[in-house]
Amino acid sequence: MEQMHRLKLAVQKSGRLTDNSLDLLGRCGLKYSRAKDQLVCFGENMPLDVLLVRDDDIPDLVQEDVCDLGIVGLNVVEEKRLAFLARGVDPLFEQVMTLDYGRCRLSIAVPEGHSYEGTGSLEGMRIATTYPNIVAAWLAARGLRAEVVTLSGAVEIAPRLGRADVICDLVSTGSTLAANHLTEVETVMESQAVLIRTPVPVAAEKLDWMNKLLKRMDGVQQVKESKYIMLHAPRSALPLIVDLLPGSEHPTIVPLEGTDEKVAVHAVCREYVFWETLESLKAAGASAILVLPVEKMLA
Ligand code: ATP
Ligand code: ZN
Repeated sequence: MEQMHRLKLAVQKSGRLTDNSLDLLGRCGLKYSRAKDQLVCFGENMPLDVLLVRDDDIPDLVQEDVCDLGIVGLNVVEEKRLAFLARGVDPLFEQVMTLDYGRCRLSIAVPEGHSYEGTGSLEGMRIATTYPNIVAAWLAARGLRAEVVTLSGAVEIAPRLGRADVICDLVSTGSTLAANHLTEVETVMESQAVLIRTPVPVAAEKLDWMNKLLKRMDGVQQVKESKYIMLHAPRSALPLIVDLLPGSEHPTIVPLEGTDEKVAVHAVCREYVFWETLESLKAAGASAILVLPVEKMLA
């Protein structure tokens, strides 16, 4: 296959998003060879190559149309977007899908014992962060004047080193903050992994595969929570039982051999199925309830 007709997708090389991203591509059916320390994984059964890079470079690679697609944290996308705008450059990447991993928040944290009484307390402070543009925009939106100290890492130790008064950093469990005697006081933004694409029209040869990949990714995401439910229901209780099925629009009703009073109901439920739901279905007259995992789904 010709090189220029191959889709290029950028993924974080080694970090918090790597395993989930490669797993997602695997679930989309991609088989690739990944040699140790290699920067490009060659897709063997799709005209798709995966570039393994630092997450911070992903928006630039899509911006410059080196890659057609990229998977990166919304925090990085937003920081780059604001950085481009500040330089008078149009950000040329579009967010096409939110992915269900990499959840975290960008938060302001103050040293333990620091008296914090709302955003006004940040006035005149030095805030250490690796996200200067997001923090500056957040401060500006609240009319706050504070000094943004841009660091490339180890933000959580900046107050102890006397380089800043407070910090703004990514948090998921809060254990890193606690270990550094910091208290989270404000959420600046919520983040998770997103798929971005170049707005540059993609060559027709690539577009088919791009659309196919996007559909498959969507299918993989939907399948995670989805279950296939089968049950027997008295005809008289059908409206109630159909109503109880979570996130399923059009269940299939099948006649049962040897009885007119009961039917079988089959439905794909796109929301998590709790034990409580099954108990309610049973209470409404359902019997022989089976819940099966869904392996693949194509809308
Ligand atoms: P790289 O070497 O690629 O530059 P990095 O150190 O910048 O790596 P990671 O720490 O691996 O990046 O985080 C990648 C992304 O994972 C973050 O940008 C964020 O979107 C997400 N993430 C999820 N939870 C957390 C967390 N607790 N701390 C930091 N990032 C998190
Ligand atoms: Zn990074």
